[in-house]
Amino acid sequence: MTKREFKAESKRLLEMMVHSIYSKKEVFLRELISNASDAIDKIYYKALTEESLTFQKDDYYIKIIPNKEARTLAVIDTGIGMTAEELENNLGTIAQSGSLAFKSENEAKDGYDIIGQFGVGFYAAFMVADSVTVISKALGSEEAYKWESTGTDGYTIEPCEKEVVGTEIILTIKENTEDENYDEFLEEYSLQNIIKTYSDFIRYPIKMDVTKSRPKEDAEGEFEEYTEEDIVNSMVPLWRKNKSEITEADYEQFYHEKHYGFDKPLKHIHISVDGTIRYNSILYIPESMPFNYYSKEYEKGLELYSNGVLIMNKCSELLPDYFSFVKGMVDSEDLSLNISREILQHDRQLQLIAKNIGKKIKSELQKMLKNEREKYEKFYEAFGRQLKFGVYNDFGAHKDVLQDLLMFYSSTEKKLVTLDEYVSRMPEDQKYIYYATGETNERIEKLPQTELVADKGYEILYFTDEVDEFAIKMLMNYKEKEFKSVSSDDLGIDSDDTQEDTALEAESKDMFEHMKSILAGKVTDVKISKRLKTHPVCLSAVGDVSIEMEKVLSAMPDNQNVKANKVLEINPNHKVFASLKEAFANDKEKLDLYTSLLYKQALLIEGLPINDPVEFTDEICKIMI
Ligand code: ADP
Repeated sequence: MTKREFKAESKRLLEMMVHSIYSKKEVFLRELISNASDAIDKIYYKALTEESLTFQKDDYYIKIIPNKEARTLAVIDTGIGMTAEELENNLGTIAQSGSLAFKSENEAKDGYDIIGQFGVGFYAAFMVADSVTVISKALGSEEAYKWESTGTDGYTIEPCEKEVVGTEIILTIKENTEDENYDEFLEEYSLQNIIKTYSDFIRYPIKMDVTKSRPKEDAEGEFEEYTEEDIVNSMVPLWRKNKSEITEADYEQFYHEKHYGFDKPLKHIHISVDGTIRYNSILYIPESMPFNYYSKEYEKGLELYSNGVLIMNKCSELLPDYFSFVKGMVDSEDLSLNISREILQHDRQLQLIAKNIGKKIKSELQKMLKNEREKYEKFYEAFGRQLKFGVYNDFGAHKDVLQDLLMFYSSTEKKLVTLDEYVSRMPEDQKYIYYATGETNERIEKLPQTELVADKGYEILYFTDEVDEFAIKMLMNYKEKEFKSVSSDDLGIDSDDTQEDTALEAESKDMFEHMKSILAGKVTDVKISKRLKTHPVCLSAVGDVSIEMEKVLSAMPDNQNVKANKVLEINPNHKVFASLKEAFANDKEKLDLYTSLLYKQALLIEGLPINDPVEFTDEICKIMI
């Protein structure tokens, strides 16, 4: 019999387990019981969908057998079992391979984080055991196999005897050390406690022979010990329990047990509907973004149960994309067990449930926004972008659902505000909802284009996410107020000195024409700025594509040629304007140089690239000498 090597990543994880100083070593039992329960789920599900099998409820259970003398602890299940190949593949390789890659070596050194946050499954057994034996007989198989390992040096697999289908996992518990007491994993009482704490909602009975005492029949006052098989867990799944009996800690534990996330959930939503369609659901809004959230690997969806039996791990039909961050489960008696994915998409019951759930999530988020602002802001920091994508996607079909959940940073409030708050503060003469786009709030704050609007005392929303402006274009307006970029052509602010401006405009017409010809192909116009107060120059855009959108689009592969129609605006009150006029009158070459420089400055302010930086520095040198 040859010894086989663990796969590299598994070996590392195993090493962590063997040398673990993790203080909650008892979670190993939760992991083994959860695997056992999954294995019974699988056989139960098969029995319900395949006629050749019958499911006798009493035949399915998990049994825990401690043996102090032999220092062994056995976890036995009557689940689906494993073939030799499955033993090799499932126990030789770590399933949650992401967990190691995610944590840096250092962080994961003593395994603390891994165990606390991810749950490491079967290998957790090596935290408390010197050796682990797995004896398993798979459903439909005549042979049984024994997998054995004493830790990192590898494992063996050989045929063995086992009568019934299922799996037995036997741990040889470590000897006590100075700092660690391993005996507790052999004590009935502490095992009962561990099971109650971590595995109470497991749907199958977890049995254990428990020592009890009773008065002796023939000797008064004397007691005798006897053992009796007890069911240790209460078995009622959390979602079937009365809400008033469930504590916050229970919900949190369920979240972790189910591996919905490694964080602490921000909010749970427990729904029990008993109408034309009946279902129970526990949903969670996570606190932080899963590390792969904005990648292709992230799969949205809820666990779907049919009357307590898990039929799908990630039912995506239950969640709209814009709420893809929601985790949780739905259990309904009205769903058929052997329903396929194709049928599910058209299932009316499921559609109804999905609709209900969507509404409920929205109303809970709104409640959070109203009553628990800080919490909502935390949520928004993690998932606000998803809501904005939601507004933009499907041609704005969901904007009505989502617009009240949006928030943007406000120039006057210096914090995130809702559109409703913005509109309710608008002075009567303010026509538009103003926004400015840029990379960060600090950069936007310094944008010359904001000067006039800010000067008017109007609030400006800062758009720092690429999707912001696209989402707003989909919304078009909020409470009948249109959105307006501070860089847009017409700001809708009446200027006090229009007459003066027109005169100036007329007077400078030739100069601007000349400047425009210098910048041909780069800007569509050069003109007097009405929005600049202290800065000499800025760019604005006319038409549908803003400068910020040009930036976003040019970063995409197929949209290289979408450009904003840019206008170079010059501040007539700035000394530079006088210099321009002077150059126009006396030195055209100088005017050309100034024009080119001002244009490039305006590009830099916008965060747009200048195509030829060398030329730019040469030009600056020219004005120095
Ligand atoms: P996870 O449970 O996260 O998949 P584990 O390392 O705990 O990871 O288990 C690996 C795999 O081994 C499981 O996915 C399952 O297929 C199989 N397995 C573990 N324990 C049992 C068991 N008691 N009965 C049947 N299969 C099991």
